[in-house]
Amino acid sequence: MNYEAVIGLEIHAQLLTETKIFCGCSTRFGSEPNTQTCPVCIGMPGVLPVLNKRVVEFAIKAGLAMNCKISPYSRFARKNYFYPDLPKGYQISQYELPICEHGYIDINVNGYTRRVGITRIHMEEDAGKNIHEKDCSLVDLNRTGVPLLEIVTEPDIRTPQEAALFMKKLRAILRYIGVCDGNMEQGSLRCDANVSIRPEGSSEMGTKTEIKNINSFRFVEKALEYEIKRQIKILRDGGEIVQETRLWNSETGRTESMRSKEEAHDYRYFPEPDLVPLEISHEMLEQIRATLPELPDEKIKRFVTDYRLPDYDAQILSEERDIAEWFEEAVRLGAKPKEVSNWILTEIMRYLNETGQEISEIKLKPLHLFELLNLIEKGTISRNIAKNILPEMLNTGNSAEKIVQEKGLTQISDTSELESLVDEILNRNPKEVQRYREGETKLLGFFVGQVMKATKGKANPKIVNEILRRKLS
Ligand code: ADP
Ligand code: ZN
Ligand code: MG
Repeated sequence: MNYEAVIGLEIHAQLLTETKIFCGCSTRFGSEPNTQTCPVCIGMPGVLPVLNKRVVEFAIKAGLAMNCKISPYSRFARKNYFYPDLPKGYQISQYELPICEHGYIDINVNGYTRRVGITRIHMEEDAGKNIHEKDCSLVDLNRTGVPLLEIVTEPDIRTPQEAALFMKKLRAILRYIGVCDGNMEQGSLRCDANVSIRPEGSSEMGTKTEIKNINSFRFVEKALEYEIKRQIKILRDGGEIVQETRLWNSETGRTESMRSKEEAHDYRYFPEPDLVPLEISHEMLEQIRATLPELPDEKIKRFVTDYRLPDYDAQILSEERDIAEWFEEAVRLGAKPKEVSNWILTEIMRYLNETGQEISEIKLKPLHLFELLNLIEKGTISRNIAKNILPEMLNTGNSAEKIVQEKGLTQISDTSELESLVDEILNRNPKEVQRYREGETKLLGFFVGQVMKATKGKANPKIVNEILRRKLS
């Protein structure tokens, strides 16, 4: 029997607000432990939370960007549990009435589109961090009260690859709208994956397990692949899947049981009495809608129609808003879209990967690429030379013109100069000339190579080809 997987994700995204969700403490990452705390976020008795308006705006922005209905009336709830990094003994979250519901995100999987439903998006506060040392455990409450969005999907995902693509798309959207930096390694974007399997063609849902502790796109895929195989093996061996929470261990590449359904918490949710229900006016909703930027899907479509880019190029360029904007800036200056795209997708992205920089941080600006492409177009330099000088442009921010001048890399397009050089080479290689004339025309490449060698790659290849063909015929 063949099985198919059913996958639903629960994602936590840390919001890029200056201050926490219910107090004025800073949300900055990496400060000295417990220096960004106050009576409210460390849960002293008698304190009152005050909702950060920016958090609501960000939640609505995310909801709109993910095609959700924004609830005009929503409410906060207490989720009760005890843990040393949660000094209040409860987390303020949303439960029955979340701020956003019924949305979706489309992902492009090997050419087909899959629509993944968004069940809900709600706001909540993060907990602190327990740090376990050899002989003691320490608690850092700087993260307590940092605002989070929890985004829950419908069980619409069918493969680990789709799950990873979904996470990438979600991350792109959150970054486009500027509400989350999407950094999975630092934990500002975290993902729990729910997965079950069922016989192919069946519409019933099997018993699911939940995998926690996944902190990269690659691990989303790996953890699910492992877990699906594990579940299939159990069913094939006549066993039963136990509903449980499992932890992904990236060192062993396995998931490990953490707690079963029986050990699951009963959170005793109830409406948060310290906060009034949240009402969103039509005006506020429309004001926020007006601030939404063009989103990845729209950008991809526009790049394909306006610039005649292949779908593949449009998708990659649109993954990061900064890269898409860099591309468009170069095109606006007059560069050919497909040319700009080729250079970004190869040389420039490789440089970004190698240096770990964002495109906005590098010294090469759209104008520099435009000028470089111009030099190729005008025949001043060959494409090869352009490729050779790009690293220096990236490292120094110098213009192509300057580097070409300094290094004397100008392409030789002077016909008479090239003609005499060709004559010389033909004279030096009489045997090859004869073979060429007897029909071995693929020797043309050999002659072009000789000219290039003699000119250190600076000869204009088009003119060299013309001269060689003429002289050899
Ligand atoms: P729980 O009550 O265990 O939290 P929910 O119904 O709230 O479960 O769903 C949590 C997540 O698990 C959602 O993303 C949902 O799409 C997904 N999910 C629910 N049931 C299944 C299932 N049988 N197989 C895979 N994923 C599921
Ligand atoms: Zn505080
Ligand atoms: Mg649930």
